[in-house]
Order: sequence, then C-alpha cells, then structure tokens
Amino acid sequence: AAPTAVLVGTSQGARRGLLIRGGDILEAASKVDSIVFDKTGTLTVGRPEVTDIRPVLLSGVSQSDLLSLAAALERESTHPIASAINAAASSKGVPPAVAEPGSVQHEIGGGVSGRVSGHSIALGSLAWVSKHAQQGVSEVPEQLEAASSSTHSQTEVFLARDGQMLGSMVLCDRVREHASSTVRKLQDRGYHTAMLTGDVRSSAVAVAQAVGIPKRDVYAGVKPGGKAALVQQLQAGGRRVAMIGDGINDASALAVADVGIAMGGGVDAASEAAAVVLLGDRLPQVLDALYLSKQTFRKIQ
Ligand code: ADP
Ligand code: MG
Repeated sequence: AAPTAVLVGTSQGARRGLLIRGGDILEAASKVDSIVFDKTGTLTVGRPEVTDIRPVLLSGVSQSDLLSLAAALERESTHPIASAINAAASSKGVPPAVAEPGSVQHEIGGGVSGRVSGHSIALGSLAWVSKHAQQGVSEVPEQLEAASSSTHSQTEVFLARDGQMLGSMVLCDRVREHASSTVRKLQDRGYHTAMLTGDVRSSAVAVAQAVGIPKRDVYAGVKPGGKAALVQQLQAGGRRVAMIGDGINDASALAVADVGIAMGGGVDAASEAAAVVLLGDRLPQVLDALYLSKQTFRKIQ
C-alpha cells in the first residue's frame, strides 16, 4: 500500500499546483521541523521599483547620470534589482550609457561591475561596492531607515566610479500576499521559521517583522555559499530543514536542505535544484505541501 499512497500523494500535489519530484520527498517533507525563507522574491514579490536616486553631495553627478551608469551595467543581468533599474531608466527616458563589451562582471549576492566610457563602475550592496571604492564612502548619505511598513520592503544599492562613491538608489518591493498568514500558520503547527537573505540586516528585519519571523531567526548579509552552509548548520543542530527560495543565489541551499522548495516564478536554477516547486507561485502552497506529506505518511505508518 505504501507506494500507492505515495503516488496518490504526489498526484494530489499535482492537482494543487505542487511539482513533487518523487515519493521519498514526501517522506522527507513529513519529517521537516524548520522552514527557512529567502527574502527577495520569496517573502517579497521580487519586482522592486526604484523610488529614489541619491547622488552624493558635490560628486558632480545628477540623478540621470547615476541611472544611466547603473543601467549600462544591469543591461544583461536577470536580478530583480537589474530589472528595476532598467525599467526606471526607460520610464524616465534616460538612455543607458554603454558598457565596454565583455567588461561586465556579476558577483552573485554582491553586485555588478564593468567599464563604462573609460571608467570603472561598481554597483551593488554597500559592503560589496565599498571593496571597490577608496574614496567617498564616508560621504554616503545615511543608509535609509528600512521601511517599517507591513506591505513594503526597501533596500538600497550603491554606485562607485573609479573608486569614488557617487551615490545610491533606493528600491521598494512589496511583501507577498499571504506571507504573514503563511508564517503564522506554520508557527501554529509547530514549525520553526527563519529568514536567510543576502540583503542587509535593516531591510531583512523590516520584512521579518512584517511577516512575523522573530528577529533572532533572521540571517542577513549571507553570501550564496553561506546560505547552504547555514542550512547545514541548522541540520547539524538537529533540525530537519525545508528551504524556500527563488533565485540563483538560493540554488545551493535548496540542494542541501532536507527539502528544497522553489517558488514557481523563480529562475530555472532554483527550480532545478529544488525537490518541490510551487507552480502556482503562492506562499500558502507551502502549507499544502507539508500537510500532504504528513497525511501521506500518517496513512503509511
Ligand atoms: P536575496 O538573498 O535577498 O535574494 P541577493 O543575494 O540576490 O538577495 O542580493 C544581495 C544584495 O546584493 C542585494 O540586496 C544587492 O544589494 C546586491 N546585488 C546583487 N545583485 C545585484 C545586481 N545585479 N545589481 C545591484 N545589486 C545587486
Ligand atoms: Mg531571492
């Protein structure tokens, strides 16, 4: 009867928009006790918009200059921040500068750099750009207070030219529908919940508060390799971990988790690394997947 029950479970999952890659996954899911969420694109919608452009005082660059340089680097990038910057440039009618062919390099979870009109440009998180910038870092306007709104999430990216900080861009993303009710239901059912993100702590904590994940369970500023290491650390502490993510930067963590779960709207690298894909791209489907696994294995045992 066991294989039949697993088959039934898997096909019931399919009917509810869950791609479950094999019967042993339902069994692993039935034993999970901790749910670790990525932030950008998982707890948030992952389609940020540029809401402010902030040149450093006396840097001599305008808002349009900053946007034009940023768009030159982001042209080929698939990161949600890149889409936001490209969209802002086109909606404001700012033509992107042109990056020297072959010069643009991405660092997953860090930013993007390249040569534009004879200058070396870096764009990304403050920590990452600061490694490229020797001057002007101290002139960066105070990092924005992260939004404490329950529906929006803010972050900021920084741009340096030839080692000098020129300014930043503020991006605003929306918290996903049903994020807080999903987290609360998981907690009510006894699951430990945590957040794992490459973004800075202030943005991470604001989203965690909006969705009800305790501050102490927020891991921010984590590099893609570090995401996998953190999942392994939780496992070493005896936890059975389901990791939920959407990005290239989540792929290795999804692969090492007891159950990797990918948002259906995420990148291919994430869904390929995951054991379960939420084809409907909706957070409450996590509850369905866990419930189904428990039902299936209750019947068998
Ligand atoms: P998350 O874990 O929340 O999905 P990422 O690991 O993808 O976030 O990115 C972490 C941080 O690195 C971003 O908040 C941003 O500051 C910077 N970053 C990554 N990729 C880019 C990019 N293409 N352009 C600008 N900044 C980037
Ligand atoms: Mg993400």
